[in-house]
Amino acid sequence: MSLPGQYPVDPLTAPAVGSGGTSGDVTVPSLVGVADPTRLARNASHSLATARLGIASSLYMALRAKNAAVADHSLRVALICSAWSSAATLPEEQRDLLEIAALLHDIGKIGVPDSILTKRLALLPHETSILEQHHLIGRQILAGCCGDNKPLMDIASNVGAWYDGSHPLFHLSGDEIPFGARLIAIVDAFDAATNDLRAGACMTRDEAISTLRKAAGSRFDPLLVEFFVRIQNTNMIRLDKEIASRWLNNLGGKTSYVAWKPGEIKPLVVESHETLFHRKLLDNMHDGVIFIDAKGIILQWNRSAERLTGLSAGPTVGKTFVPSLINLRDDQGAVIHDSNCPVLKAIAMRVQSLSRMYIRGRGGGPIAVNLHVCPIIDSDSETWGATVVLADASSEIHLEERVQSLHEKATRDPLTRVSNRAEFDRVLALTVQNHLEGGRPCSLIICDIDRFKSINDTFGHQAGDEALVSFAAILAKSCRQGDLVARYGGEEFVMVCGDCDAKGAVELAEKVRAELSQTPLSELKGRCITASFGVAELQNSDNPEAILRRADHALLHAKESGRNRVIYQDGRGGKSPQRQTASTSFNWWPWNTKKTNSPNSEERYLTTNVPIDVVAEKLRGFVDDHKATVIEVNPQRLVVRISSRETIQQRRYNDRPVPFLMELTFYEDAPDDPARRATVVRVVASPVRGRDRRWDPVTATRQLLNTLRSYLMAQDFQPQFNNDGTPQLTSIEDALRAFLN
Ligand code: GH3
Ligand code: MG
Ligand code: MG
Repeated sequence: MSLPGQYPVDPLTAPAVGSGGTSGDVTVPSLVGVADPTRLARNASHSLATARLGIASSLYMALRAKNAAVADHSLRVALICSAWSSAATLPEEQRDLLEIAALLHDIGKIGVPDSILTKRLALLPHETSILEQHHLIGRQILAGCCGDNKPLMDIASNVGAWYDGSHPLFHLSGDEIPFGARLIAIVDAFDAATNDLRAGACMTRDEAISTLRKAAGSRFDPLLVEFFVRIQNTNMIRLDKEIASRWLNNLGGKTSYVAWKPGEIKPLVVESHETLFHRKLLDNMHDGVIFIDAKGIILQWNRSAERLTGLSAGPTVGKTFVPSLINLRDDQGAVIHDSNCPVLKAIAMRVQSLSRMYIRGRGGGPIAVNLHVCPIIDSDSETWGATVVLADASSEIHLEERVQSLHEKATRDPLTRVSNRAEFDRVLALTVQNHLEGGRPCSLIICDIDRFKSINDTFGHQAGDEALVSFAAILAKSCRQGDLVARYGGEEFVMVCGDCDAKGAVELAEKVRAELSQTPLSELKGRCITASFGVAELQNSDNPEAILRRADHALLHAKESGRNRVIYQDGRGGKSPQRQTASTSFNWWPWNTKKTNSPNSEERYLTTNVPIDVVAEKLRGFVDDHKATVIEVNPQRLVVRISSRETIQQRRYNDRPVPFLMELTFYEDAPDDPARRATVVRVVASPVRGRDRRWDPVTATRQLLNTLRSYLMAQDFQPQFNNDGTPQLTSIEDALRAFLN
């Protein structure tokens, strides 16, 4: 019988030995601890082959199905033993025997509950005794299926025996324990220590060796421990290659392992493509990926999850996922409490969720992530848990902030922070269109700070700026949610009030006026400012320019009437906040003007599909609003004189008045046919003083005519002319006479 003292000093350089024989002073150890291993091995060859032919394979598959970690450990132990056999140049049969015994040494763990096999904390005494039962269970299993293979039984069922004989479940000690069992016991302990079998602290190779040495003599054969250490210190790469090639050759079907069909063994040794691809994908993904079971236990924590959170997979896998683990906060930074876990919610509700959250990053600071939780539900509708994807959103946040800042710059007035003129134009056009389409009321308020020039003059431009900021803040505070407040220019502001009739808009403007009177401004040494307001409500035939024009006109009146007041301008020139029902609806025609003899005068034909009495009513508003002086009246003609200060572009207080003469001639088409009734107005406007350098007479005249067109709710019209140059229309109605009287 060979003893440890005769083991090869350097297994890799030791001379090769014959099958079970001796060579020089080196004796090949017998795996079963008997004198003639060759004979035993030969006797066992038939039953060993039987074991290989399916039973060992089946048992191993059963163990793998029960607990993959234990099965993987067994396989590693078998591989190390195989390397050792190679280093010791054991005969092939003994090497096979050792490998199979190593592969099945933990088979009894099939009978140990998972709760104990996978328990991450230290086992309680009763749990340890249950675990210890695996030696007995293993013995029973092996006895049932390969009891006739004594060498295999002897080795596999004595792996748990202690060298000093102190293990209560084993009666052998010292060299009575089969050599193979003593050897597997050492490899078993080494692999368990370095591979963190039950997720205790995983030891380094040196720590594991030191532990083995401490237990040498008591638990392990001391000389075998040293032998194992020497092998560990030799060229492991060469050994590894040797094992790998052996396994690959076996898988190729040449050797005794051919009975373990490639289809069965391959997944145990080489990952399937699918698994390999999945694992590589998970490991190399930029996003953190976490798998969580239905009870909230973390099953997988990929490298990016480690990188993002700073928590390594080792201690994290197996824990229950709770928001506090990663310091989860919502997009506002509020802590998500463990009782409100979005992952457990998604599992319970069986619905996906995607939300912007914050987690504690590797450096301790918060990181923005998009948290995507997807419950895993199988085809039987059973919920298995959830996948959680943590996508780093820091760069998105940066981009969003930049877009936000650019949008602010494009739409905000830099001084007062309310919307700017461009944004006002955009919103007004949209609001007018939406409200016209929906037939809903909508109003516009224009306000202008009174005597702001003198505020600048008295308190300085800086104080003036601060007063503008305060004024804008009061507007923003007073308006309703959804109203737009914008700086139109200088000290003029506008408010677009959707779903708001003139009455509501007047009330809002009055509210602002009251607020101004109660808000002393520190920048103006406690003085309050006042402002004037013009209000207009959207009419059926309006466009953005028309409502703006009316509101502006009302503001002018407010200024003219003494400032610090609210004036409403209705579509007929009236100034009461009652709703108007406009009866016309038409599209604007292109400009259609005709020069008269006077160089700056302009002739235009306007048509409106309302009867002439309604036209007369609207004209009354125009004349009133423009403080026009009636020069001539007859049933077909009206001539008025208008001071240009009343026109849109010339409303500034300081501007010099520029008078216009305006001649209007009326025609009503088909007065007896209500369906076709329309009124045509020929209007000729001419500035009285022709060549004032301060203004452009052509533009001013056109603007005045546009204002008139807006009052009459008319459109430009190009009539057919009779031979005598008059338009082909009938005469006027009594209503005109009534107006003229
Ligand atoms: P009114 O009551 O008729 O509106 O008189 P006003 O003095 O307010 O009107 P006017 O149009 O004559 O003067 C407006 C003044 O507003 C002139 C201009 O210097 C001043 N202003 C325009 N924009 C700013 C600005 O951004 N900051 C300051 N401090 N003043 C401004
Ligand atoms: Mg002003
Ligand atoms: Mg102004």
